[in-house]
Amino acid sequence: MEDYKARGYITPEELAGKGLLPSIERLEKGPIAIAECPEEIPCNICKNVCPFNAIRMDRIYDIPRIDPDKCIGCGVCVPQCPGLAIFIVDLSKPGKALITLPYEFLPPPRKGLIVKLLDRTGRVIGEGRIVKVWSYDKTWAVTVEAPRDKYMEVRALWIPEK
Ligand code: SF4
Ligand code: SF4
Repeated sequence: MEDYKARGYITPEELAGKGLLPSIERLEKGPIAIAECPEEIPCNICKNVCPFNAIRMDRIYDIPRIDPDKCIGCGVCVPQCPGLAIFIVDLSKPGKALITLPYEFLPPPRKGLIVKLLDRTGRVIGEGRIVKVWSYDKTWAVTVEAPRDKYMEVRALWIPEK
């Protein structure tokens, strides 16, 4: 069994090892999706909803791979992934990272709120500011401004006050 299966979450190093991370140069150009979906499961929703044909899957069991030249980081795929496995990362602004995450609680947070940033284990790793809140088909997505060096760690939010 691979380490991430036993552990219950995947690390950035494991994602990189599977070729699932964009280059730092691409991240610095503007937003791009990162699909943290290493299992060969029968799902291709992300591929089907992408308006830019930026997700490559030849078979429904394939691992989704984002084409860095086609993806514009629109975020359409984020709230539609049933596994909550797609994030948008944008390192084009100096000194910060913009990270878009799926958000499944109600009510959704309001723009401007300062929130706790959580890593994949649920550990608090800092604070960030909500800069965008939007939904697709009743599922929410939230963009948070986070410390730049945490762009591959922040994967959930804790909102003590709404
Ligand atoms: S962010 Fe937009 S362009 Fe990129 S993979 Fe998702 S739906 Fe496609
Ligand atoms: S929609 Fe989500 S769970 Fe399904 S293949 Fe895409 S990333 Fe994986």
